[in-house]
Amino acid sequence: MLPRAEALISQAALQQNLQLLSRHAGAPVLLPVKADAYGHGAVLVSRAVDELPELWGYGVASADEALELIEAGVRKPVLLLTPAPGEDLPELSKLGVRVTVSSARELRGLPASARVHLKVNTGMNRLGVRPAEAADVAHALAARGQLEGIFTHFASSEGPDLTRAEAQLSAFREVLSTAPRVLAHACNSGGVFNFGRRAAFDLIRPGIAAYGYAPDAHLKGQLPLQPVLRLRARIGHVHRVQAGEAVSYGALWRAERESEIAVLGIGYADGYPRPATGRAQVIVHGEMRPVVGRICMDQCMVDVSGLNVQPGGWVEVLGPGPIDADHVGEWSGTISYEVLTGIGRRVRRTLV
Ligand code: PLP
Repeated sequence: MLPRAEALISQAALQQNLQLLSRHAGAPVLLPVKADAYGHGAVLVSRAVDELPELWGYGVASADEALELIEAGVRKPVLLLTPAPGEDLPELSKLGVRVTVSSARELRGLPASARVHLKVNTGMNRLGVRPAEAADVAHALAARGQLEGIFTHFASSEGPDLTRAEAQLSAFREVLSTAPRVLAHACNSGGVFNFGRRAAFDLIRPGIAAYGYAPDAHLKGQLPLQPVLRLRARIGHVHRVQAGEAVSYGALWRAERESEIAVLGIGYADGYPRPATGRAQVIVHGEMRPVVGRICMDQCMVDVSGLNVQPGGWVEVLGPGPIDADHVGEWSGTISYEVLTGIGRRVRRTLV
């Protein structure tokens, strides 16, 4: 079956981004592949990078995501970055999935086979033990032979104001000075961009940067990353509308002159955001063209006047080039992260 829309995942771009980030920070990568690898397809992504020497392992956000990677046969470690329900711990540990411990309380009931990364709350105030008790919990875990890592997470590492991130970094360093020596990690993409080697410790955890995007507009272009995902949609139908005729729900757009309209096989249920209506553009035969009228659930319409397009042709929706996930995020009032993770299940992912 030919897909209506597809996401082409570039193995070369992904590998190059990982190598670049690892070189920039001087540490191997614990690659966040949560949320289906930021919408890229976690299993596909793992196939593209599993053998890379720069890759230490994978970070996931649910037990199911961990199992999916294990079932796919990844060779590198998988770390569950969020608290695992107690019921899931025995199976996860048996499968070798590393789990996150966020409080002293969690030591009770932790299977003896569990390998642990201890999370320290240095200011994000989402998960983690407080710095004051972190070293004690770390020593208790190390005494049981279960401690593999200690980590923290920045709340505002994109900058430009890095005061809070610096404070978090100091608090983390202080914990490390009295904790057992295990794998330490802190840097998300913002941390890698702004701190580089200064805060790399033993591993870095860049998510959005690995997929080719800066974590914030002001950092765009600072590192030569390449968007990994190229989203394109097929033209299902082409027709003419007369001057004054409206297109799509609510008649938000009316043709000023006779126009040729292509109907694309992508809509908000595929992750092409409805709030981008009125601002979105796509690339048709190398030209930027406006998406006209409301973006629908399964389709959207493009003014392709003068381009001689045919049903079955492809239109570039986002990726490397003049329209990327940052632009789509801007048009729809959100960020690249949400655009990428929102790409729906109907969009076929292919590793190229
Ligand atoms: N580490 C943890 C614990 C996270 O929750 C995330 C994502 O939110 C990341 C790393 C990667 O963040 P980013 O995509 O901003 O690099």
